Amino acid sequence: EMFGQLTSGLESAWNKLKGEEVLTKENIVEPMRDIRRALLEADVSLPVVRRFVQAVSEQAVGVGVIRGVKPDQQLVKIVSDELVKLMGGEVSELTFAKSPPTVILLAGLQGVGKTTVSAKLALYLKKQGKSCMLIAGDVYRPAAIDQLVILGKQVDVPVYTAGTDVKPAEIARQGLQEAKKKNVDVVIMDTAGRLQIDKTMMDELKDVKRTLNPTEVLLVVDAMTGQEAAALVTTFNLEIGITGAILTKLDGDSRGGAALSVKEVSGKPIKLVGRGERMEDLEPFYPDRMAGRILGMGDVLSFVEKAQEVMKQEDAEDLQQKIMSAKFDFNDFLKQTRAVAQMGSMSRVLGMIPGMGKVTPAQIREAEKSLQIMEAMIEVMTPEEREKPELLAESPARRKRIAKESGKTEQQVSQLVAQLFQMRVRMKNLMGVMQGGSVPALSN
Ligand code: GDP
Repeated sequence: EMFGQLTSGLESAWNKLKGEEVLTKENIVEPMRDIRRALLEADVSLPVVRRFVQAVSEQAVGVGVIRGVKPDQQLVKIVSDELVKLMGGEVSELTFAKSPPTVILLAGLQGVGKTTVSAKLALYLKKQGKSCMLIAGDVYRPAAIDQLVILGKQVDVPVYTAGTDVKPAEIARQGLQEAKKKNVDVVIMDTAGRLQIDKTMMDELKDVKRTLNPTEVLLVVDAMTGQEAAALVTTFNLEIGITGAILTKLDGDSRGGAALSVKEVSGKPIKLVGRGERMEDLEPFYPDRMAGRILGMGDVLSFVEKAQEVMKQEDAEDLQQKIMSAKFDFNDFLKQTRAVAQMGSMSRVLGMIPGMGKVTPAQIREAEKSLQIMEAMIEVMTPEEREKPELLAESPARRKRIAKESGKTEQQVSQLVAQLFQMRVRMKNLMGVMQGGSVPALSN
């Protein structure tokens, strides 16, 4: 799971407060040490860790007793809020030019995923109804130009190329002219990367930037490089002036340092994140959801949103409503599992479902199998049973009939019923937290 080590590091902090009545200067010493260690191990930059720990400690001792809220829950809430703040608070949207085309310039070192991101971003914007054009400006790697042309075809977006003999700024000029002729809404320019920062690259970028007068200059950084990513954002911002960052490879086993350091170190927000090699794997960066993931609470909102892509709009809203009111029934369960199956990328989605975190490929295959089993049982339920899971909880005869008709065991049916009730409780708790409500009771 993403940032798994950070999550378990933080967990040990809350665990040290079990049995305490109130947060005090004394009893937060150990937990704060755990938090500090967890963040440093996640490769968060040291000044950021210091400020974070200080901010959390100050609030923790000042918070006093809140009826019904345990000290460990209070600390989770404080850490959660501070994490959100650290990552920039609100989602930072892309800016569009008042009169098109909006120009987006992408920069970054070699291998970070810049070319891939160019095409992903075009697809992302296309889905929002914007017409796009790509400009291939990586004149040092003919392969990069070919790659962009291929990806452009894949996402069905035109790519402007001028070979490798033309200077990047000239390519930019020609490309922009072409884009204006074509009346496209957004132009995205991919530029050359280097293994390391060098003056020629910076000078070329400055030339390109001058030519394009871009609305967005986004630095693509690799999440695996941890706090180094934050340092790069700072350097590029000082050298050429950027509007934000795109963090790639968040699906890998990055430890969190980049996501947590970029905004605080550079002052520039992470606008988008890459979470896989597929063209669809680019999303806005939501600080609150990221904090939710880091705290190991799953991510109901992202899940519901993913589900929305495959489910009809009203279905999804209905689902959210039902989750909130704990009316989530077997019909919803079925809709949801089918949506999940359609989403293809099971691993990522499963990671978002509360209580299903920390999955391995073997567990995914297992989960896919168990989804089939669940479906078989739900399919033989009567409409009434699907809507009122209580009927099944109360009647062994009904469970027996379902087992018989679906070819499963009675035990499997009981498990399914129990699982639905568990999901109701979990989802309700989590939705509360995601909407800024109280912190759920922590398990164990
Ligand atoms: P560039 O040199 O910066 O243009 O990098 P590329 O776009 O060629 O990407 C380098 C490699 O990283 C390719 O194999 C991509 O498939 C891979 N990659 C890019 N973004 C992601 C991501 O978000 N997740 C994963 N797992 N791989 C990515």
